[in-house]
This record gives sequence, structure tokens and C-alpha cells, in this order.
Amino acid sequence: MLRDCIEQVEERILRAVQRAGRRREEITLVAVTKKFPPEIIREAYGHGLRHFGENYVQEFEAKRPALVDLPDAQFHLIGHLQSNKTRVAAGIFHTIETVDSEKLARRLNEAGSALEVMIEVKLSPEDSKSGVSPEELAALAAAIRSCANLRLAGLMTMPPWNDDPEQTRPYFRRLAELAREHGLAKLSMGMSHDFEAAIEEGATHIRVGRALFGPRPLTRNEPSSGGV
Ligand SMILES: *Cc1c(COP(=O)(O)O)cnc(C)c1O
Repeated sequence: MLRDCIEQVEERILRAVQRAGRRREEITLVAVTKKFPPEIIREAYGHGLRHFGENYVQEFEAKRPALVDLPDAQFHLIGHLQSNKTRVAAGIFHTIETVDSEKLARRLNEAGSALEVMIEVKLSPEDSKSGVSPEELAALAAAIRSCANLRLAGLMTMPPWNDDPEQTRPYFRRLAELAREHGLAKLSMGMSHDFEAAIEEGATHIRVGRALFGPRPLTRNEPSSGGV
């Protein structure tokens, strides 16, 4: 079941990569495992996946003890980070994809472990989600680059939800442009329903949940719909 889904996702990646004249090795598949138990991560690891995305610091903190024997698994924080959770986050994640303020960067740096970080960019003003505006990007990039423990790798974005990937494509294109302007190599963009468009526009990291694991288990107090 999971193996079939991984195969299907791999086929979609390959077709997109071919259309774009890129190579498969340029794309990191980040398996988004929020709300799933650690056994799912372990199973996915058994099928060869190595990068995992989690949205909530506390949730992953609880799962992590069950996963410490997967030494080369790489965990990405892809959800909003609150500044009072930076110390914990720095200790359990390899990459923080959602840095969006100097204060967060400073606190992550002070936590003392070497971390790869990305800046989350908000590309549509009406979108209330976290992220810096393109205008604020240069200042934040400079601030992160002055942090000894942080390595600024690239940009991440979560465009406004749209079923139609063609509506989202301009956001992917814009993020790629910004990464070029700021000398950044990595681009985390694209989800289950639109990662082909993201790959065609230059994504290096795609964050895929439902296409691999199916619908997320419902938890109390949380709506079933929406991107997160
Ligand atoms: C949940 C989530 C994803 C994965 O979404 P799917 O539609 O399940 O592929 C990707 N990125 C972020 C930031 C998320 O919160």
C-alpha cells in the first residue's frame, strides 16, 4: 500500500523531471508525516525514504524517542515555529524550513546546534499565513548569514490553497526568482496535488503528505480540511 503510493509519487516526479529537463537527484522528496504515528515514519524509512516533514514541534518531540535508531533520517520542520519552542526545535530537527523573523533566527542560533534553515516567504498579501514578504527577505537573509550556527540554504513557500496547480504555478515561479536574486540554491515548494508544477519551476524539495500516506487521521479540535 505505502510502497505503491511511493512508486506512484516517484513516477510523477520522474515525469515532471523529464518534462523540465532536470535530473531526479535534484529533487528531495520530503514525506510529510504530521498526525501519523512514528510507525508510519519507520515503515516509510524501510521503503527508502530519508527526509520527513513535521508541522508541530511538540508532536514530533513526542514521536522522536521511537525514531532515534534511524540515524540517517532527516527531519524538517515545515510548520510555523513559535519563539518559545526554538530550543527544543533546534535539538530535534535537522532543517527548519519556516524561519520568518530575525528573532527566531537569533534564538535558533543561540540554541547552539548546527542547523540548516530556510526562509519562509509569503507571496500573497491577502494570505494570513506566516512568512516574510519579498521586501523583507534581504534583511532576514543577511541576519541569518551572520549566525554562526545557521546555514541558510534556501526558500520555502506555502501558496494560498488552490485545487488547480496552474493557479499556483506563478507563486512557484516567483519563489524561484527570489532565490536566484538572493543567491539561494534550495527551493521547498509543491505538495501532493501540485508538486509537478513546482518541479517544473525549480523546486529542490517537495513536501508530500496525502499522496504517500492517504488522508490524515483526524485529531480532536482540528478541522479535517485545509493544507495543514
Ligand atoms: C501538510 C503540509 C504539506 C503536505 O500536504 P499534502 O497535501 O498532504 O501533500 C506540505 N507542506 C506543508 C507546510 C504542510 O503543512
